[in-house]
Amino acid sequence: AQAARGQWQRQMREEAAWLDKEPFTKDGVRIDLGLNIGSAAGEELEAAQYAGFAGLLRTEFLYMDADHFPTEDEQAGQYEKVLRAFGQRPVVLRTLDIGGDKTLRYFQLSREDNPFLGSRALRLCFENPEMFLTQLRAALRAAVHGNLWLMFPMVGSLEDVRRAKGFVEQARRQLAGRGERAGEVKLGAMIEVPSAALMAPELAREVDFASIGTNDLCQYLTAADRMNPAVAPYYQSWHPALFRLIGMVARAFEQAGRPLCVCGELGGDALAAPALVGLGLRKLSMSASSLARVKKALAGMTLGEMCSLAARVTACADEEQVKKVLCEAKERDL
Ligand code: PEP
Ligand code: MG
Repeated sequence: AQAARGQWQRQMREEAAWLDKEPFTKDGVRIDLGLNIGSAAGEELEAAQYAGFAGLLRTEFLYMDADHFPTEDEQAGQYEKVLRAFGQRPVVLRTLDIGGDKTLRYFQLSREDNPFLGSRALRLCFENPEMFLTQLRAALRAAVHGNLWLMFPMVGSLEDVRRAKGFVEQARRQLAGRGERAGEVKLGAMIEVPSAALMAPELAREVDFASIGTNDLCQYLTAADRMNPAVAPYYQSWHPALFRLIGMVARAFEQAGRPLCVCGELGGDALAAPALVGLGLRKLSMSASSLARVKKALAGMTLGEMCSLAARVTACADEEQVKKVLCEAKERDL
């Protein structure tokens, strides 16, 4: 145990040295690394200095920590704090994503047999327009103080995006009616439902940007509840089908010339990150604890090597083979 501990500590020290480096592949291609943020607390924002942008601001924290629906002013204040920490760098604010595993003490969600397939995230916002509009007004007000990109979770169709955009316009009109300033924002979708991934070419023309939520995309693709330990072996985050689907989405967004990021756990997975770049991704967003490790992993391979790694991964027949391919690539890099 002592030997393992010593090795782990050495590895941590070695990785820490990468934290403040700029993220480049071995042959000098810059990969934009973002930070996933779960609250506006100081400790979370400290890591902002090591990232090019905030790739996922999970706004649920504001709602889950409170004993009432956070007011427009309360939300605007918190969003402004995050935006100021990032200056002119983009902050991707994800609109409320509750339902499924995330509940609120003060809001009764309807009982459903399959909550992950039910009224969650954007669907719940559509059903509760006042709740949604309050958040959108707060975000638009905060946008005056930085570079805000607004992103909708659980998008399943173009219709969802168009409807969400209609709400943003309504929130803008409400602010104008009150004589309040609203900032400019980019509008984007999370790609975490397979139907959205398969419609990527059309979706890319409907949004300014998108981000792949691999945690949910894996859950819906493998039909394995991400919260249920009994089906954990079926929830395969290195399933070749997931890499193939990500590759399709990446090609669609590249053709449309629209930015695409991966903000699910896979984006911060140092073994998978080079394969994602090989599939065409140039933006990855992750928790602070993954930044150094991913920077190190990207610096170990050329873009050409990452492309052939991606080709090998997508040609695999099962997760076991993908694991072998990704681990061998890391061994070579060491
Ligand atoms: C995801 O689904 O990959 C994601 C980033 O969102 P969350 O984990 O909050 O559902
Ligand atoms: Mg999700």
